[in-house]
Amino acid sequence: MAKSSTIGFIGLGTMGSPMARNLMKAGYRLRVYDLDRAAALPFLQLGATLAESSADALHGASTLITMLPDSPHVEQVMLGENGVFHSAATEQTIIDMSTISPKVTRGIAAQFAARGVQYLDAPVSGGEQGARDGRLSIMVGGDEGAFRASREILEVLGKSVTYVGGAGSGQVAKLCNQIVCAMNIQAVCEAYTLGRKMGLDLGVLREVMLAGAASSWMLDVLGKKIIDGDMEAGFRIDLQLKDLRLALEAAFEEGVPLPGGGLVTNLYLDARAHGEGTNGHQALYRVYERLSDAARAQPGT
Ligand code: NAD
Repeated sequence: MAKSSTIGFIGLGTMGSPMARNLMKAGYRLRVYDLDRAAALPFLQLGATLAESSADALHGASTLITMLPDSPHVEQVMLGENGVFHSAATEQTIIDMSTISPKVTRGIAAQFAARGVQYLDAPVSGGEQGARDGRLSIMVGGDEGAFRASREILEVLGKSVTYVGGAGSGQVAKLCNQIVCAMNIQAVCEAYTLGRKMGLDLGVLREVMLAGAASSWMLDVLGKKIIDGDMEAGFRIDLQLKDLRLALEAAFEEGVPLPGGGLVTNLYLDARAHGEGTNGHQALYRVYERLSDAARAQPGT
C-alpha cells in the first residue's frame, strides 16, 4: 500500500486521534470523520480532509479505519444511513480497530464479504500511550490475504501485528486479553490494599514486585498511577465494563464459565456506581479502599 495513498479514519477519540496522527506522520493522506466535529477539526490544520459522513470518509480511500466505542456505534457507521457499506467498493479494505462483539463483527464482515469488500477486525491493546507511541499490540481477524495487504499500515500503529484467524478472531483475542487485564489490575489493587493496611510503603512494594514474578504492565503503569493518586483515564472504567460484558456474553453463548471475570465485573460495577465510570480502571483501587475501610470498622477485624 503506497504511503501516498489515502486512508479514511472514523472515530478520533482517546485512541483514534493519536493513531490517525501517526498515520499522517508516516506519510499517508487522511480523510477523517467524527460525530464530534471538534475532535476532527485539529486534523484540518495537520493537512487532513474532513469528511461529511461515514460514507464520505471512504471517498478516494484505499483503506478505511474505524476506532469507535462499542458494537452499536460500529453497526451504525458501517450499515446505518450514510454508512460505509453503501459506498464501499471491492478494491477498498475496511479495518475496524474498535473492541466490539465477535458475533456482531462476524455479521458485518459477512455482509461486506457478500459484496466482495474485505473487512478486517483489528482491535488493539496498549492503551493511549501505546497509541501515541505506535506501539500497540494489534490482533487481526478476517481474510489472511487482506491482512497481508494491510500489514504495512497496521505496522505504523503497532509494535506487534498478529494474524489470529477468520472474521471475529481478533475480537475474541481482545476479549481474552481484557479478562487478563481486568483480573491483573484487580490483583494489584488487592495486594496494595493488604500491603498498605499492614504498613508497607506502596512505592517499595511496587518496586519489589516489578523485579519478580508479579511484574506486569498493570503493576508498572497503573500501579504507579494508584500511588500518585492519578485516577484519570486512559482506559475508562465504563470501557472496561463494556469489554467484560462482551466477554461474559460470548462465554455465556459458548457455555464457558468465567468465575474470575464475573467477580471482577461486579467490582467494576461497584466502582461505576460510586461515580468512577469516566475514571481510569486503576480507580478499582477505591473499591478495595472502601471494602477494607469497612472491614476496619467492624469490631474484632
Ligand atoms: P473514545 O470514546 O475516546 O472515542 C470514540 C470516538 O468515536 C469519539 O470521538 C466519538 O465522538 C466517536 N464516535 C462515536 N460514535 C460515532 C459515530 N457514529 N460516527 C463517528 N464517530 C463516532 O473511545 P476510545 O478510548 O478512543 O476507544 C475506542 C475503542 O478502542 C473502544 O472500543 C475501546 O474499547 C478501544 N480501546 C480503548 C483503549 C483506551 O485505552 N482508551 C485501549 C484499547 C482499546
